[in-house]
Amino acid sequence: MPYIGCHVSISNGVKNAPLRGHKLGCEAIQIFTANQMQWRGAPISEKSRDTYLKEIEKHDIRIVVSHDSYLINLSSPDPGKLALSRKAFTEEIQRSAFLKIPYIVFHPGSHMGKGDDAALQTIAESLDYCIEKVPDTDVSLLLEITAGQGSNVGYKFEHLRTIIDRNQYPSRLGICFDTCHAFAAGYDIVNEVGYNDTFQKFDDIIGLDRLKVFHLNDSKKPLGSRVDRHHQLGEGFMGLDIFYRLVNDERFANLPMILETPGDEEHYAREIQILKDARK
Ligand SMILES: [Zn+2]
Ligand SMILES: [Zn+2]
Repeated sequence: MPYIGCHVSISNGVKNAPLRGHKLGCEAIQIFTANQMQWRGAPISEKSRDTYLKEIEKHDIRIVVSHDSYLINLSSPDPGKLALSRKAFTEEIQRSAFLKIPYIVFHPGSHMGKGDDAALQTIAESLDYCIEKVPDTDVSLLLEITAGQGSNVGYKFEHLRTIIDRNQYPSRLGICFDTCHAFAAGYDIVNEVGYNDTFQKFDDIIGLDRLKVFHLNDSKKPLGSRVDRHHQLGEGFMGLDIFYRLVNDERFANLPMILETPGDEEHYAREIQILKDARK
């Protein structure tokens, strides 16, 4: 069975995240390891790390995923911004390794006018750079499929495949499948035929063994809109059936399935319960 959970806040320290998740019913959690709106992350002391690790165990959180800062653009055409992004992403790898987090989910990048292919090349090179800066870690870096809003790349399976192919360390790369993003990008996973077809395509182009994390979000915008607006499960254009199908898909048993739906924290408890009840 997949591990169900949601994104939880690290306010007042990362050590508070496991209890917060536990109270909502999480078996898995996603966190930012630093303030996602600042370039420099505050250092985490060994004492906080140890408390955090004890809390993870105490509250039976089975898997933790981190998400990179929204400021990072690993394909920025601006050399200054690109350098800042690479430095911040390298620090994200260091912090995640320090916290024993196995997966970092990140948005591949946006081309800002230079075009998809050039951006994919820069992202592959940025990942080489960051991986080489912290050679003694084994955190997996998960490219998140995007909605393709603005100049974001990563809205086609082929984009993700290209980044993996052009990177020197493909064994370190995997994929995070965000249901809202895939739907907004034009993958019609809502009906059963489209669902089967999409994951068949994923397997043909990328390989299902690279799929490590799901983000479960409904979409405020219709299929193919290329607009990234998450909605609470069953409230948007996707409905609930897709989520019932996912939590019972044997291919995805043992994967973390993380909610990132809007609203205050209480709605997460309700949605987590819906998903747990749906598991057979
Ligand atoms: Zn994301
Ligand atoms: Zn997501």
